[in-house]
Amino acid sequence: SRLTRADLDALPAYVPGRNVADLARELGIAEAVKLASNEVPFGPLPGVAEAVARAVTESHRYPDMGVVALRDRLAQRYGVDPDRIVTGCGSVALAEHLAKATCLPGDEIVYSWRSFEAYPIISAGVGATSVRVPNTPVHGHDLQAMADAITDRTRLVIVCNPNNPTGTSVRKEELDRFLSQVPSDVLVVLDEAYREFVTDEQVPDALKTYGDRPNVVVLRTMSKAWGLAGFRVGFLVAQPEVAAAIRKVLTPFSTSLVAQAAALAALDAEDEVIRRCSLVISERERVTEALHKFLPDVPSSQANFVWLPLGDAAVPFGAACEQRGVIVRPFAGDGVRVTIGTPEENDAFLAAAESALTS
Ligand code: PMP
Repeated sequence: SRLTRADLDALPAYVPGRNVADLARELGIAEAVKLASNEVPFGPLPGVAEAVARAVTESHRYPDMGVVALRDRLAQRYGVDPDRIVTGCGSVALAEHLAKATCLPGDEIVYSWRSFEAYPIISAGVGATSVRVPNTPVHGHDLQAMADAITDRTRLVIVCNPNNPTGTSVRKEELDRFLSQVPSDVLVVLDEAYREFVTDEQVPDALKTYGDRPNVVVLRTMSKAWGLAGFRVGFLVAQPEVAAAIRKVLTPFSTSLVAQAAALAALDAEDEVIRRCSLVISERERVTEALHKFLPDVPSSQANFVWLPLGDAAVPFGAACEQRGVIVRPFAGDGVRVTIGTPEENDAFLAAAESALTS
């Protein structure tokens, strides 16, 4: 007899990036560099620490469960009605709630693979079947194959744009065609965790372009460009009826008091966010160009990371970088994802990469 579900035994666990202090200790160096979790490398935005300190005085109280102030502020910033916004403990929790709100055991969730590692975990959590559609040879979504993979059991299709971990993105023309093929009773999630780093004008901002479609939900996070990974704030924009259904399955009070306060303060510092994103974007272009000298297949990235399609060399490459004090994210047999850090961190990575790839 067993207490937990047998099908979970085979499910790979979510693996967080390696601890940077542990690696520094192991190597006996002052500081290691972590480029493994797609965080933005700058400290808290101006005003965030103060807002959190103020919120802490109320820490014996539950937060506002309706998240009214933050939803109003997001509604104003993104030009949508607050009824259409749901916040959560990171956008990954919202993706989980979306699966709960749409799928019964045996239903299907279609997504591209390789993509965000949480998708298979979320699908398994609700007993849904993951339908993984292989990426194109140039590491992007194959939207036609994804549309073709939809069956009567499909409840959810997830398009990760830009895609984690390959950095590739789908353009408006392709998405328009794809969305016109998806049946109206299948929900399409456009996961735009990295939207703020997009510079290609042909990659649509889903909130502006598809926000009014009844079966589209746009997922955003404040963990990346907004620098709040540690506070766990994500939000989604859906039609009011869809948002209402998602609210029913939310873990109560899951956007914490400090998360709400930090998010409001971050939204007041958008000028600084834009400045920081421009630095990340210019570093992304510099790193990509430098990598192209010895790895011409690195796809052009629209996110705050780059993908090195190294196949079986991915794990040894990751280990070689670690030996040089740089933590990256290898995916066995496939490739390595490297987050864009500060210029100095990126230089440390490029030096490690060059010596690993040319030795
Ligand atoms: N979606 C994608 C594509 C991601 O890469 C991530 C973070 N790795 C998330 C969602 C979740 O981010 P968070 O839960 O921090 O909002």
